[in-house]
Amino acid sequence: RHSRSKMPQYPGLDRWILLEKMGDGAFSNVYRARDSTGQLGEVAIKVVRKFEMNSNQRANILKEVQIMRNLDHPNIVKLVDFSESRQYYYIILELCPGGELFHQIVRLTYFSEDLSRHVITQVANAIEYLHETSGVVHRDIKPENLLFYPAPFVPSTHPKPKQPGDEDKEDEGDFIPGVGAGGIGTIKIADFGLSKVIWDSQTMTPCGTVGYTAPEIVKDERYSKSVDMWAMGCVLYTLLCGFPPFYDESIQVLTEKVARGQYTFLSPWWDDISKSAQDLISHLLTVDPEKRYTIKEFLAHPWIRQTNEETTAAA
Ligand code: ADP
Ligand code: MG
Repeated sequence: RHSRSKMPQYPGLDRWILLEKMGDGAFSNVYRARDSTGQLGEVAIKVVRKFEMNSNQRANILKEVQIMRNLDHPNIVKLVDFSESRQYYYIILELCPGGELFHQIVRLTYFSEDLSRHVITQVANAIEYLHETSGVVHRDIKPENLLFYPAPFVPSTHPKPKQPGDEDKEDEGDFIPGVGAGGIGTIKIADFGLSKVIWDSQTMTPCGTVGYTAPEIVKDERYSKSVDMWAMGCVLYTLLCGFPPFYDESIQVLTEKVARGQYTFLSPWWDDISKSAQDLISHLLTVDPEKRYTIKEFLAHPWIRQTNEETTAAA
């Protein structure tokens, strides 16, 4: 279906056979590709147009690659290889055939509490690894940067949400294929383009000697971690109801709403969503970063600890 001849050819990328375009960004195209040597199977290749970037932007790409090199977690997209030609950087990545979580929210309208928990727990496990083990903050957590590896087919248990206008349509059945008892599969955090190292795994201190670290450095580290926690609150909110907590057509008004932490659990969409889920979100969408939940507090919250059976029983 995707003719090879339509795919662009890049110098020095002969090993890989580009199959289709999967996404793009400001300076990059992302392709699904196959290893011509047959050793590695399919990968994703982020082709970055070096020639459109200034030296600062180029340095940032190298930083992104350097950070990814040091990461190893089942819920984080793995760096397979990195190379460059005169005009391009080639970032070879573990392929996430399911694509963006964003598209699944659009497709399903919103996720059940069980499915949302299944997704956000995997994101949280990756964040815990970044914040507590690697000393990295991601700083760009959003549904477009959450990719997934689909679960092997299992009978679906996800009820199809009713859409306006469904009344006069033929009943297509109650269930959505591809989202089953096993969830949607393995979620993987991608795009470390804005990520930052807050401490070095060698010294375990933020760029200095143990015991000599100034309080503002320690606070800085805490603040930057809390950025990811806020974003997780936005993602969880969006998963559960299908729209983001903060939105306005005017960027100015939107910025003001975010600054004040002005959001609501809008009726009727939130009427049937548990108070426990709302409580967890409110601890993430807390304006004061000192009071906002850390990843440890998030993982200890009753809504996260709860099993799927308990949700069903409580409903
Ligand atoms: P940018 O910094 O331009 O946002 P990303 O790394 O987020 O670049 O990649 C852009 C898009 O390409 C993603 O949102 C996703 O749709 C797709 N993509 C990136 N990496 C992969 C991957 N490993 N597997 C599948 N799709 C990917
Ligand atoms: Mg991105």
